[in-house]
Amino acid sequence: MEEIVIDTTFGKLSVKLGTSPNKCPFCHCFIHPTAMGASLRDFSNMGQLDVAFKCTSKVCQQVFVAEYRQHHKSSFTSNNFCYDFIKISIPNQTVSSSFSPLIEKLSPDFVAIYHQTERAEAAELDRIAGVGYRKALEFLVKDYLIDKVPGDAEVIKKTMLGPCVKKIDDKRIKEVAERATWLGNDETHYVRKWIEKDMKDLKSLINLVVHYVDAELLYLDTISSMPK
Ligand SMILES: [Zn+2]
Repeated sequence: MEEIVIDTTFGKLSVKLGTSPNKCPFCHCFIHPTAMGASLRDFSNMGQLDVAFKCTSKVCQQVFVAEYRQHHKSSFTSNNFCYDFIKISIPNQTVSSSFSPLIEKLSPDFVAIYHQTERAEAAELDRIAGVGYRKALEFLVKDYLIDKVPGDAEVIKKTMLGPCVKKIDDKRIKEVAERATWLGNDETHYVRKWIEKDMKDLKSLINLVVHYVDAELLYLDTISSMPK
């Protein structure tokens, strides 16, 4: 077992680490790394430890953090703190957009795909994030149409996004969704048609579709809950 010294509220303390992570999260090589340092998540709770490792592959050498959890609740006086490797911590600083409960109910797939795409975008996977937003749009449009005419669900599911958008009655939703589709298709095709537009414009258009759909759902909900 590897020993490492950590700072605690009682001063420095030597702790023992169980197995080390055996695969680098960057180069995916199998490695036998040595801990460079460790830090308690929370001084008041000895339970969780973040341990820094450096990839031992000569061409990689990236530093990453692994999460450890206390093996047994030993007393401070016994000076025998052991920690087990749990997982490699992937920093997740993405702030997910929030959608109204009406949108979440209408299309949980749209919300899930949109959030996953935001994570891809935050990880600078911009070449594929656009495709994700295009996919999210397709789920939103189709779930919106299926909600209106549940009997057409099977037809709508099999129809391409463009013809689906044409089925939308509301002029504003249709016009904005149409433009979002144009930009979304640019993200999936080899040649861009809208050179001066980018993924930010696609996101703005999708958010506008969400805004109008949300307003319509809220309107219908309010009217049905307060009939004349
Ligand atoms: Zn590596």
